[in-house]
Amino acid sequence: MEKLVSYTEMAPGGIVVNPGNSLEYKTGDWKVLIPVINQETCTRCRICWYVCPDNAIIELDKEYTTKKNRKYKVSYDVNSDFCKGCGMCAQECPVKAIEMVPVEVA
Ligand code: SF4
Ligand code: SF4
Repeated sequence: MEKLVSYTEMAPGGIVVNPGNSLEYKTGDWKVLIPVINQETCTRCRICWYVCPDNAIIELDKEYTTKKNRKYKVSYDVNSDFCKGCGMCAQECPVKAIEMVPVEVA
């Protein structure tokens, strides 16, 4: 009969031995839709950035002036490497500045 090992002899589990390694796994390659942010409509509220489960909304240090001369110090974009196309950002955007479009169109 096989001898069972005690818990002190078992290899520890549930340990991240290489913190930050999730960046090596590009999780966005199976999406069919991708968000496109309308910089004119966006009010820079940051809700999309907050709700994205994959940290795929990125805040860029890039100024933008709207056609109505409203000036913003930042712009928002999508990191395609990690966006899974779930659409939560578009769903939650209070001014509907995000449109989900087919990946091949974006
Ligand atoms: S939720 Fe909408 S308005 Fe707010 S930052 Fe994102 S795109 Fe802009
Ligand atoms: S579609 Fe989903 S994963 Fe992609 S940026 Fe929006 S909330 Fe994040």
